[in-house]
Amino acid sequence: MARYTDAVCKKCRREGMKLFLKGTRCNSNKCSVDRRPFAPGQHGKNRAKLSEYGLQLRAKQKAKNYYRVSESQFRKYYDEAFRREGVTSDILFEQLELRLDNIAYRMGVGTSRAEARQLVGYAMLEVNGKKVNIPSYICKVGDVIKVRDAKKDNKTVVSVLETNKLKAIPSWLEVNKEKLEAKVLRKPVRDDVELEVAENLIVELYSKN
Ligand code: SF4
Repeated sequence: MARYTDAVCKKCRREGMKLFLKGTRCNSNKCSVDRRPFAPGQHGKNRAKLSEYGLQLRAKQKAKNYYRVSESQFRKYYDEAFRREGVTSDILFEQLELRLDNIAYRMGVGTSRAEARQLVGYAMLEVNGKKVNIPSYICKVGDVIKVRDAKKDNKTVVSVLETNKLKAIPSWLEVNKEKLEAKVLRKPVRDDVELEVAENLIVELYSKN
């Protein structure tokens, strides 16, 4: 039976850019952004000029959907970033990048963040030698994240790692593809985030509420 995948792809079409939410499909000629490069819905082709609030909302939605986190989780990261000393938007993205599901995706355990999250939930990984199955777990500098020995032969993991073997690794992570492990070398900075988004608009949106 064919799977309905358009709901997720609509998020990309709404933002007018690829958010890479569907794994291998995103780099194929089936990508909805390539095939239908306009917003979903009846009036998608006649997109109205956005208000200031609309632009802020779209920026927030883009980042939230890119990392596949809920509104309440995203807001929690913003509040924490606001509370800490430093540039709020930098700390916001630092936390999102350091989530275990994102690190799993970045090291190649998952063709999308959603798949990486699922594999983390299935306890495929350990952090510093301890099994961790919480996708929102925030890793720290020096942490070693590894595919658990018991899961190295898991069919899904093997096939995902094969698909991702040429994937670029961000410079804040050191990945050993033989040992299936990664080490956090430093905190990720804004330049390490591949998403194009005006982060100041996110801060403006939340600072009003
Ligand atoms: Fe769908 Fe991926 Fe293309 Fe986004 S990038 S529209 S999720 S196929």
